[in-house]
Amino acid sequence: MIYADNAATTKMSRTAIDAMLPYMEEIWGNPSSLYEVGQRAQEALWSARERIAAAIGATPKEIYFTSGGSEADNQAIISAARWGERKGKKHIISTAFEHHAVLHTLDKLAREGFEIELLDVHANGLITRDQVADAIREDTCLVTIMFANNEIGTVQPIAQIGSLCKEKGVVFHTDAVQAAGHLPINVQEMNIDLLSMSAHKFHGPKGTGVLYARKGIPLVNVIEGGAQERGKRGGTENVPGIMGMAAALEEECAGMEQNTAKLLKLRDRLIDGLSKIPHSALNGDRESRLPGNVSFCFEGVEGESLLLLLDDKGICASSGSACTSGSLDPSHVLLAIGRPHEVAHGSLRLTLSSENTEEDVDAILKAVPEVVEYLRNMSPLWKDKVSGKKSFVI
Ligand SMILES: *Cc1c(COP(=O)(O)O)cnc(C)c1O
Repeated sequence: MIYADNAATTKMSRTAIDAMLPYMEEIWGNPSSLYEVGQRAQEALWSARERIAAAIGATPKEIYFTSGGSEADNQAIISAARWGERKGKKHIISTAFEHHAVLHTLDKLAREGFEIELLDVHANGLITRDQVADAIREDTCLVTIMFANNEIGTVQPIAQIGSLCKEKGVVFHTDAVQAAGHLPINVQEMNIDLLSMSAHKFHGPKGTGVLYARKGIPLVNVIEGGAQERGKRGGTENVPGIMGMAAALEEECAGMEQNTAKLLKLRDRLIDGLSKIPHSALNGDRESRLPGNVSFCFEGVEGESLLLLLDDKGICASSGSACTSGSLDPSHVLLAIGRPHEVAHGSLRLTLSSENTEEDVDAILKAVPEVVEYLRNMSPLWKDKVSGKKSFVI
């Protein structure tokens, strides 16, 4: 099997699994309990908090453990919105191509009377600092813009947007789920107030994540319960998961330079090879993109059929995000960068990890052109285009 869907989830690393086992087999106490097996779990949690904070330039008290990226996004946005509301500020700036954990939370706030302004994404999949500057108003309480897009892999100018928000006194949240462990992050240098991440996107376990909240930003609970996480997130902490997350993040940060160099080679070979397919187009900027992301549209092809045929050849890929598969609507991300519906339906996302090899790339470069040609040959619409009765879009 060739796994090329690392934006959907990653395989857990041996390091992460090994870091978790002692907290299932030996130190399985409740971290809130006073006896030793509980206190040892509490100490472990604190060490994980310190290590995760260090990885992003934060302090341990600014780290809140959550059930993953979605919960962190919800809590960050709702907290900033409630804080703004108390000051009479109800304008929020975001983008049209955020993850649904962000977009659906914003929808909820819109129904409560918040004004949500979604910036248009340029055709290259990027938002500029100037777009944000033009949108900020007196009553803006939050700017929430993802660090890197989960479908097309474009990396936004987060440090520039962060310094702008600081200058204007607006809270800045970034969904860094695709960036954490893959790109350097420093919340101080980048002036990030709130940041979300998720362990299963960097070779840690599923169901555990982090909300970083700068000191002084009042958090609102989205999970009510006990006094865990300094009263801001009820529920017994997922100690094994958190230990696995800390180990995975440390490992990915330590190996980042080496992994990036390897991934760039594989990614660029894939992009060059797939670009040779006629009537194809790379989605998103070629330079400002995640080192493992390859996203294409192929005209005259149905994305779902493409994936099924690739699956037959042992290749795991996706058409867009895992969250939208199963619905027949084209990806909101591809529509946001201006791909017509017809073209957006023919999308393919390949997301690599450092476990992928040159041989994987060879196999993908052999399989995709074959499958695309096969599907096009079956399509009456494609025949009309080839014969000139209809025109090509890309
Ligand atoms: C995966 C993902 C999420 C959701 O994270 P979960 O831990 O699966 O809830 C949020 N945002 C982005 C950009 C993602 O890629």
